[in-house]
Amino acid sequence: MASSIKLSRIEDLDISFKSLSIIEEGRSGKCNLSIIDQRMESIYQQALAAAKNMGIPSIVTDKLDLNVNFKSLQISPMVGYNPKKQRIELEIPFLFLFKKSDIIEKNELGRAFEKVFCSRVLTAEEFKTSEALFEFLSDDEAAENAKSFILHHEIAHIYYGDILAPNVSEDNSRKREKRADITAARFSGQAAAAVRCFTIVGEHIPLPNDGTTHPPMPERVAYLQTYLENEEKASDNSSS
Ligand SMILES: [Zn+2]
Repeated sequence: MASSIKLSRIEDLDISFKSLSIIEEGRSGKCNLSIIDQRMESIYQQALAAAKNMGIPSIVTDKLDLNVNFKSLQISPMVGYNPKKQRIELEIPFLFLFKKSDIIEKNELGRAFEKVFCSRVLTAEEFKTSEALFEFLSDDEAAENAKSFILHHEIAHIYYGDILAPNVSEDNSRKREKRADITAARFSGQAAAAVRCFTIVGEHIPLPNDGTTHPPMPERVAYLQTYLENEEKASDNSSS
């Protein structure tokens, strides 16, 4: 299946990003922008690889570009079609750029958040969220694997053409989300990392679409665990 999607590099980096101060390699100070660039590049490459991996069906015309935007204030990634600009927009929370090694102190992420939120002090709820995200990042390898799963999930919405008909009932939306999860598990091979990530998110980060347009987190964890068990059984059978 030929990939008919054209991918282009995005330049519109959120300005609040550039003034973000974090502790880098044990030194306090301004975040080295080359690290941000490297991280952006790696996320971009991951998205590219995911799209290539899955092959984009002909439902997506070759007029469409895939753009990766980093949004500072949003927690969950999303993908959509912008008819005005005739392009697919993949929105990724800016936190997805970071690795634990970028942020060595637990509260540093909360302070980085405060800077992004226009220097206001975080509410207790937001602070809890930043701590949970720190926990998500705390194992670099697992976090990178979970990011790969999440990118595959978003690309799966392109694959099935979900983004071209975004207004469906909540029931159908939940079915689409499950299909994107299972497809991401298959193509990324990272269901285990997703289970870890979704467990943290489910426990600590209240997402507004949880249980409405998306299946509740415990349900997503459960069917991904079932997927992993079935995979294990299948590989046991083929090796015996
Ligand atoms: Zn989704």
